[in-house]
Amino acid sequence: METREELLNMVKSSRVIINNVDIRDLLSAPTQEQLDCPYCHKGKHVYICENTYLEITPGETRVCKKRVIDYEEWQIGAVKFDYCPMCGRKLGDE
Ligand SMILES: [Zn+2]
Repeated sequence: METREELLNMVKSSRVIINNVDIRDLLSAPTQEQLDCPYCHKGKHVYICENTYLEITPGETRVCKKRVIDYEEWQIGAVKFDYCPMCGRKLGDE
């Protein structure tokens, strides 16, 4: 799969006039930043305050709290995001 940047370069270099369907495909292609996003691909925590963070997993995002004195984190909630809050990639396409 080409990234959005690669598709844009193909369009620029070929000087092809693209139609609406091609534009939709182009805009739905992931950017390189989205492909490399550590939050939605590698489980890096999104801190929302000192001890509380989001953990993005396929299907749902866990809201967790972990203090220094805790051995394990507590899941204090869950939310459903359609898009990664850090890179904007549509979730659920994995
Ligand atoms: Zn992301």
